[in-house]
Amino acid sequence: MKRLWIEEVLQYKGKEAHVLGWVANRRDHGKIIFVDLRDKTGVVQLVFTPNHKEVYAQAEKLRSEWVIGVTGIVNSRPEAMINPKISTGELEIEVTDLEIISPAKIIPFEIETEGREISEELRLKYRYLDLRRSRMQQNLINRFKTTSFIRNYLASYGFIEVETPYLTKSTPEGARDFVVPSRLDPGRFYALPQSPQQYKQLLMVGGIERYFQVVRCFRDEDSRGDRQPEFTQLDIEMDFIEEEDILGLIEKMLKELIEKFFPNKKITQYPFIRLNYNEAISQYCSDRPDLRQNKNDSDELAFAFVVNFPLFEWKEGEKRWDAVHHPFTRPQFLPQETLPELITRIKQAPHTIMAHQYDVVLNGYEIGGGSLRISEPELLEAVFELLGHSPETINQQFGHLLEAFDFGVPPHGGIALGLDRVLMILLNEPSIREVIAFPKTGDGRDLMIKAPAEIDEKQLRELRLKIIKDN
Ligand code: ASP
Repeated sequence: MKRLWIEEVLQYKGKEAHVLGWVANRRDHGKIIFVDLRDKTGVVQLVFTPNHKEVYAQAEKLRSEWVIGVTGIVNSRPEAMINPKISTGELEIEVTDLEIISPAKIIPFEIETEGREISEELRLKYRYLDLRRSRMQQNLINRFKTTSFIRNYLASYGFIEVETPYLTKSTPEGARDFVVPSRLDPGRFYALPQSPQQYKQLLMVGGIERYFQVVRCFRDEDSRGDRQPEFTQLDIEMDFIEEEDILGLIEKMLKELIEKFFPNKKITQYPFIRLNYNEAISQYCSDRPDLRQNKNDSDELAFAFVVNFPLFEWKEGEKRWDAVHHPFTRPQFLPQETLPELITRIKQAPHTIMAHQYDVVLNGYEIGGGSLRISEPELLEAVFELLGHSPETINQQFGHLLEAFDFGVPPHGGIALGLDRVLMILLNEPSIREVIAFPKTGDGRDLMIKAPAEIDEKQLRELRLKIIKDN
């Protein structure tokens, strides 16, 4: 018989239905056994009575989380037994046939609850069980709806999604790289991208004009509470644009997304507030201020764009200039300033230079950022020089980009949103781990699959690697 989703059972009143799923719980009422059966679409009550003797005897064995299949008649429940909490609450299936497909050991924690009372270590160790809880299912469904919406929205504006490599070369985005040793070229390493920054700019040189990607980024940072070593960005790049084109695109996308899938949420102000970096610092002592009117209201969304950042910051510890965003960010020209004059100012007065950079802030979190880019090779070289790169390292690390810019480059810019963080806020979750199927702990471990792990001697030899043990 054809499998019905549990939500479809509603249309089968008085008829026979065949459903599959997990035993959510079993209640023995002497002569009658009730089982709540769960699939990804919901829960339905099964009734086993001694009228169907063999099936009834088997049902006595059932325990939570066993996988079963049943066939039975869909009956209306007596008025007093209707359960308004579940969508199939007015029905039950009187089981005539039961198949036990896969028994389950005793589950290490409750699945029927939201799971907030359970230690996170235990939840992550048994993540595949944790994912069965309705809250986690809803989070993943909403995540999928969000990325689907974004893909359609951007496609309707002429963007295409392009995949860029994960095995690549280091990009300077301010964090440490994860590296992957090359077997075919011993002693050389790929780096996992901290973001597809250079590739997306090269796609602009490649004439793609409107690019986006829902993409994994990798940053090897020391454990910092809510960070993940790999996280997902919505990455965007487009050509022939002003800052406002990008901000307008993003704010409209977020507004439409929220109206469609998160209708309980109220956006405090639309269009979003534009706040100068200096104002943010002087008024709120933060470049990501929480602008909610009522901070206890979990449904308020206070977005802001922070704009007009300085291009460089002085790192006192290291006694050097660093890029506030990244070195590809476009400086703002003063009125009438020529390119040679700007390059001189980079050398002589870097602190005076403002950037075409913007951050997106939501309820006190930085949820994204981006910039217009430098597309003049000599300007990019001047920035790299100020940041302390020698001509050789510039050539070695960024030669491809400088060369590409010699072949006809449109002015371009882009942005990246931290999707995990956006979802965390929209779903009222306290951590991004709640919106990622298989997250890592704060110190970068996967407790379920047990990564990172040692590799065997043979693999090490193939890679010509030796492990230096700490004393
Ligand atoms: N690549 C930048 C980042 O990951 C975003 C951008 O400038 O588009 O923060």
